[in-house]
Amino acid sequence: MHVYFHVPFCARRCSYCDFAIAVRRNIPSGDYVDTVLREWTSWLEQPVWAPAPQIDTIYFGGGTPSRLAPAAIATLLDRIRTDRTVVAGAEVTLEANPDDVTTEAARVWRAAGVTRLSLGAQSFSAEALGWMHRTHDAAAISRAVDLARDAGLTLSLDLIFALPADVPRNWEDDLDRALALTTEHVSLYGLTTEPGTPLARWTARGEAHPADEGRYAAEYLLAHERLEASGFEHYEVSNAARPGHRARHNSGYWRRAPYIGLGPSAHSGFGDRRQWNLREWAGYERAVRAGSGWVEGSERLDPPAVHLEQVYLGLRTVDGVPCDWIPEHHRASWCSRGWARVEGDRLYLSTEGWLRLDALAAAL
Ligand code: SF4
Repeated sequence: MHVYFHVPFCARRCSYCDFAIAVRRNIPSGDYVDTVLREWTSWLEQPVWAPAPQIDTIYFGGGTPSRLAPAAIATLLDRIRTDRTVVAGAEVTLEANPDDVTTEAARVWRAAGVTRLSLGAQSFSAEALGWMHRTHDAAAISRAVDLARDAGLTLSLDLIFALPADVPRNWEDDLDRALALTTEHVSLYGLTTEPGTPLARWTARGEAHPADEGRYAAEYLLAHERLEASGFEHYEVSNAARPGHRARHNSGYWRRAPYIGLGPSAHSGFGDRRQWNLREWAGYERAVRAGSGWVEGSERLDPPAVHLEQVYLGLRTVDGVPCDWIPEHHRASWCSRGWARVEGDRLYLSTEGWLRLDALAAAL
């Protein structure tokens, strides 16, 4: 079993972000812990544990989990360990904004059982960070890496590529600076313009000009080249790791392992079943405290939908899919264009194929 906590609180909304967040100056850590543990308790008697009674990974995502009081993370992890067996050496990841990482916070996180920080670096350019409405500067990223490492945490860095041409940002320079920090893992996110965000408004007014396909591809391919040359394995569309450091939590999603999601907007999945919680913190909190109604929706996938999901998830990773999952005419076409290769009885997408993943999967 994999467990995910969605921690919705952020200091302010980044210019491109449409996630389920709650902007708060003062973070209600106590209320969050109390509410989410009530939801956790409701899961304990559910049959979902029968095939996967032990917890392999725990992930605090958001939002900005590093804005919770560090002691709140400790309380949550203690309770999980009290109620269920967490396997020895489990991966426990906390997403963090660089400016939330202090000596004391890193020490408490590590003592609580956190093993890995996923740092939202995004860029090292002051102009780009300002344009994104991020709260940190480049110096905070290096400082956070040092403090996390001193505390014994492994590290992943998030970087955003394909910023609008209007933003003075040198992607190559950002990659060099990220690689110089020698983290164990890097995640790459291509910027997209989501409705309702400041970026969408700027774009509609002609004040921002999203990167065209050519630059999107060039920046993605450059990142692939640099990461691989530096000893990383680009093991999934958006993720690269040094040997032995693939993200185990996300790898669980790609294998369709069962997972429980706690908190507003969190999704849970087991077998052919999915369910998801109310998106807004206030509504979720009210419903959980009232004892019902926090699950917003659920669905059961039919066998063809499960198979299609398996194909899509398999194509995302370097592990590929069995050849016979892909119709012969697609296999031939993808391979002839350099988007895929066949080895033995498996098909693997190339980096060029990953750039087109959604279109290729949609054609199946
Ligand atoms: S910190 Fe993350 S979740 Fe919060 S607003 Fe920025 S991008 Fe969105």
